[in-house]
Amino acid sequence: MRALPILPDSPAAWAAADWPTIQGPYAQLAVATLDESTADAWLASWSRLEELLTEAASLAMIAYTTDTRDPGREATHLRFSADIMPKATEASVGLARRLLDSGIARPGLETVLKRFHASADIFRAENVAHQSALEGVAADYQRITGRMTASWEGEELPLPRLQPFLKSADRAVRERAFRAMAAPYVAERVPLAALFDQVLLHCRAIAENSGFPTYLEYIFPAKYRFDYTPDDCRRLHDAIEQHAVPAVDRAMQARAARLDVERLRPWDVQVDPWKPGDGRSFADGDELATRAGRAFEAVDPAFGDYFGVMQREALLDLDSRAGKAPGGYCDTLHHRGRPFIFMNSAGVREDVTTLLHEAGHAFHAFESHQQPLIWQRHPTSEAAELASMSMELLAAPYLTSPAGFYDEATARSAELEHLEDILLGLVHIASVDAFQAWLHTADAARDAGERDRTWLALRERFEPAVDWSGLTGERVSRWYRQLHIFLYPFYYIEYAIAQLGALQVWRNARRDRASAVRAYREALALGATRPLPDLYRAAGARLTFDTRGVGELVALVEERMEDLRAGLVAAG
Ligand SMILES: [Zn+2]
Repeated sequence: MRALPILPDSPAAWAAADWPTIQGPYAQLAVATLDESTADAWLASWSRLEELLTEAASLAMIAYTTDTRDPGREATHLRFSADIMPKATEASVGLARRLLDSGIARPGLETVLKRFHASADIFRAENVAHQSALEGVAADYQRITGRMTASWEGEELPLPRLQPFLKSADRAVRERAFRAMAAPYVAERVPLAALFDQVLLHCRAIAENSGFPTYLEYIFPAKYRFDYTPDDCRRLHDAIEQHAVPAVDRAMQARAARLDVERLRPWDVQVDPWKPGDGRSFADGDELATRAGRAFEAVDPAFGDYFGVMQREALLDLDSRAGKAPGGYCDTLHHRGRPFIFMNSAGVREDVTTLLHEAGHAFHAFESHQQPLIWQRHPTSEAAELASMSMELLAAPYLTSPAGFYDEATARSAELEHLEDILLGLVHIASVDAFQAWLHTADAARDAGERDRTWLALRERFEPAVDWSGLTGERVSRWYRQLHIFLYPFYYIEYAIAQLGALQVWRNARRDRASAVRAYREALALGATRPLPDLYRAAGARLTFDTRGVGELVALVEERMEDLRAGLVAAG
């Protein structure tokens, strides 16, 4: 009998560790006895190793993204992300191969074994260096964008802090804020384009090494997209073009009429045309968390409890500050079984939506932590984003009471704005996914100018309702601002798939709230133990790529928007 490794009690033991230290337990698992009688203990030991390591890496990443100016934090984050983790992935693939070769199977492990198969099939040792290099590019991107600021009334502000001014009733203020926020991306276009050259180079090498003609074909098994194809994605783009684009057009016409402007400009899209104010919905991150917590409690007391744990254990970093990385995320600390939420709130309604979204991910982490092995917990992004996007809609009815974010009339316009954002989101996602498909398959994508021209053409196809004349540089800069394209190539269509699922959960909740929430929770608790279509079915939804399915859901959204507008008109 060859024994299992002795592991540390907490990830803190590995905070300063290098690969040779962490390699030890992997090497022991590679030779430890593995047969029917030892398989459960062997799997539990390996799972625990992954919990400890991923939590140590997550803590380093969290420390870095909360202050990208600290070179010590950057070095630690890079040690994990660019050195240790790619090597650990290689060691994990070795253990997965060993398990697959043993023929050992367990109930509840079918989807896990299928993923192990896919990872083992495409893994090539020579790709480890390319994955490390991509991590370096990602850190560069975060450093460049994290230090971006705009001068605003004599102050240098981080870009998210300008969000409230995009909602100003004063059109000139909105225009000034829009231009100030786009300017740093326009100014950094050349270094960002050079970074993207690197992304393309490494992605192409990875695909080639693994025997795929393009990175598009590689990414489907790599991201465990077992239940849909690149053709389905193209079908979805077309369905969105057919139904969501005209719906956005109608929404933009209503908006232009209400704002009393002839041509809608990009700085007219975020202001609330019904309740224009100073754009602020709460004072700071503490108030945001307190109010949102009441809404979660109203959706389901269990969610209120989970969120309370996060507040007490300081697992929220919500306010925008100088030096924070852009965007928002929810990461899971697998050893302690807790999620962490990061975002850059500045007081606007979109921040409320972002927190509801990230909290959906967090509740998913709490619910699925009951699964014994780490690989059984996190499903693929299509299911993860179903959890988060459904929570945006499930919590929305409680933002007035008991959360206290809005009065009744404001709640109506906030819901209208949210639904409008969902339609805008679908067309944005379709353009980003179509763009990424082109970037990773076309030879012309090696040319930076060609990339910008292709982006502009796609935006014309999917976003024809807004007048961008005289703003070509700003319109181009939008894709440089889409961090997924740089950090997580091809991660994006999942948002459209999940949004269409979330709209079905919302439809169900409007008929029978209690049973819709129950199904939602049950789906979250399944973690990754079922195939994607089953997870959607458990939540009361189906995977949707077809014109009819998209058409029905868009019609439902438009119908609700009509009701809300009528209510706002009646309320004066
Ligand atoms: Zn998300």
